[in-house]
Amino acid sequence: MEQRLHVFNIERFALHDGPGIRTTVFLKGCPLHCPWCANPESQSMKPQILFREERCVGCGSCIPHCNRNAISLKDKKARIDRTKCIGCGDCANACITGAMSRCGQEMTTSEIFQIVKKDKDYYQKTKGGITLSGGEALLQTEALYPLLELCETEKIPVAIETCGYVSLKCLKKIVPKTELFLFDIKTLNPEKFKKFTGGNLEIVLENFSYLSKTSGEKTVVRIPVIPGLNDTKEEIEEIFRFARQHQVNKADLLPYHVLGIAKYQQLGRTYPFECRKGLDSKELEPFLEMGKNMGLTLTIGG
Ligand code: SF4
Ligand code: SF4
Repeated sequence: MEQRLHVFNIERFALHDGPGIRTTVFLKGCPLHCPWCANPESQSMKPQILFREERCVGCGSCIPHCNRNAISLKDKKARIDRTKCIGCGDCANACITGAMSRCGQEMTTSEIFQIVKKDKDYYQKTKGGITLSGGEALLQTEALYPLLELCETEKIPVAIETCGYVSLKCLKKIVPKTELFLFDIKTLNPEKFKKFTGGNLEIVLENFSYLSKTSGEKTVVRIPVIPGLNDTKEEIEEIFRFARQHQVNKADLLPYHVLGIAKYQQLGRTYPFECRKGLDSKELEPFLEMGKNMGLTLTIGG
């Protein structure tokens, strides 16, 4: 039986997740929980309901469709008891205003590939391809592998965006089928990494070291520049130096932004990061200059 992947979005004609025109497949599930995450709906592998309160007219049509009794009305607006909700999506099907929508679905490799291959001509003309993003795509390596094989057969280049907090075994498996790695380095300070993301930095660095030896020329370091985490000259310089020491010469600086805040509300969550002001690309220009002087090829925004 064909394996299924937990997908929460497929974006065609994407321009920021690698070279050329791309289709980005966003997979659900992440082993880290960065508080600045702009895609909180990616963190859990399970399907979830996004509730846009402003669209709710309080008609109550969704209530009888929920066999978990998870929905009630308060002040003429639907309220979801998230402890009862299993993300089945029946309420979303009943809601005609679009206040409820289901995020996350299981798709087979073939179903994804049917979408991906529609733009093959564009990939060829622009040196594009597909990007597997998330969440953390490599949490689903086993199910992902047949998709990589199909792409290889059809000569569609694959990029993988990874937080690096995955098993080395998974990484080794997909390296031969991957043309480009967009590898997140958030900080080189193990305590900070643990505090902010909950992860063990040693695993990330071990994976980066492996990739740099086997695929250094096809690896790009992605640095999300986050206030209070790494937005100083010293921190960024340390990451640049680390990349160069590993013979990885390309890096992207990704300015912190707050576009994801509304999604936390839609998931019934409070935005967990204290900073609510995004960084302007201009604020990153001194880092750009510094990195270029260190011999890196850099972009702001990827
Ligand atoms: S969520 Fe949709 S179906 Fe439920 S009360 Fe609001 S508008 Fe009606
Ligand atoms: S997703 Fe399913 S369980 Fe959750 S509130 Fe909607 S109908 Fe109820």
